[in-house]
Amino acid sequence: IIVLEEVNKSYGPVHVLKGVSLSVGRGEKVVICGPSGSGKSTLIRCINGLEEHQGGRISVEGVQLGPKTLSAVRREIGMVFQSFNLFPHLTIKENCMLAPMEARGLSKAEAEERSLDYLKRVHIAEHAHKYPAQLSGGQQQRAAIARALCMQPRIMLFDEPTSALDPEMISEVLDTMMELAESGMTMVCVTHEMRFAQKVADRVVFMDQGAIAEVGPPDRLFNSPSSDRLALFLRRIL
Ligand code: ATP
Ligand code: MG
Repeated sequence: IIVLEEVNKSYGPVHVLKGVSLSVGRGEKVVICGPSGSGKSTLIRCINGLEEHQGGRISVEGVQLGPKTLSAVRREIGMVFQSFNLFPHLTIKENCMLAPMEARGLSKAEAEERSLDYLKRVHIAEHAHKYPAQLSGGQQQRAAIARALCMQPRIMLFDEPTSALDPEMISEVLDTMMELAESGMTMVCVTHEMRFAQKVADRVVFMDQGAIAEVGPPDRLFNSPSSDRLALFLRRIL
């Protein structure tokens, strides 16, 4: 469903992605980890065209990402960021209604129904009428997940969704992500939550210095890393 072939990306003189190739199958869960600055965020931002890549090819559902196909590809992809990026002047429910009305042409009533449906799935329907500032970080992040799901994407990308949260709120967001995984969603998650990776990931990708240094099932990567760099990284984060 997602295919990256020899993707290269530079910011000016800084070569950030160095020939990254990766395929993600339908329903597959891939966790990306690696040191700060290794290019994890850049990689997933390239997948939904938030960043332009300079070399290689990215295709989603067989459609190659380019200027003409950008909006079509993006419609298939939901994204959740570290900072929840909710609109502060809208309630949680209104946050969820906005894109389906504007980009999918839903009526207000349809968008409201869908919004409440997804807020229920992430277990915060009772807060639908509140503004983001009235909610905890974990609740805001679950609202952000619901907002992405309201566009009914085929793929969900997560960029360190729990790293801005207090420890006691991390598990409620991870639980929501695990439920989403069980529903069969195709997911690519940048996270250092190794319990999540162990439970959910079909494959873990270890990035280092702009390249994929190692990839494999979580058990193998975590228990018998083949590179010193991954072994060192795991010692630091565990
Ligand atoms: P972290 O774990 O800290 O989030 P990361 O693996 O997500 O790191 P990226 O954010 O993808 O890393 O950044 C990779 C490299 O690209 C870094 O060296 C960073 O300084 C550089 N970089 C990222 N965004 C930009 C930008 N907009 N302009 C210039 N350089 C950038
Ligand atoms: Mg990052």
